[in-house]
Amino acid sequence: MEDCLFCKINQGDIPSEKVYDGEDVFAIEDINPQAPVHLLIIPKKHFSTLLEIEESDFQLIGSIFGVANQLAAERKIDQSGFRVVGNCGAGAGQSVFHIHYHLLGGRAMKWPPG
Ligand code: 5GP
Ligand code: ZN
Repeated sequence: MEDCLFCKINQGDIPSEKVYDGEDVFAIEDINPQAPVHLLIIPKKHFSTLLEIEESDFQLIGSIFGVANQLAAERKIDQSGFRVVGNCGAGAGQSVFHIHYHLLGGRAMKWPPG
């Protein structure tokens, strides 16, 4: 999609190192990390919000959690605990309207989130 930050990063129009690059999903370091490990796991297909996910996308979305587990193990936060977060809509804090899941870890997490 035109004028979408994460589509542009995926296509290489905006340079950003992919820490994971699969067929349908990629991951990058968050530019403003909120924890020692803060990655963004992003489907290559453009969805503006989580509300656009349909049944035919369930396999793709499920694969994101496999990538999260793999990256958590690589970054050694799998045993200490990590969080996978998807914000849906501005009211929930979504600021980039191409869906992504935050993978956060490496510090103690509080609940509830702010
Ligand atoms: P949201 O607020 O939509 O849940 O998350 C968007 C995330 O994207 C934020 O954590 C923000 O720091 C990150 N972000 C925004 N612009 C860029 C960018 O150009 N590059 C990278 N790597 N992360 C970005
Ligand atoms: Zn996009």
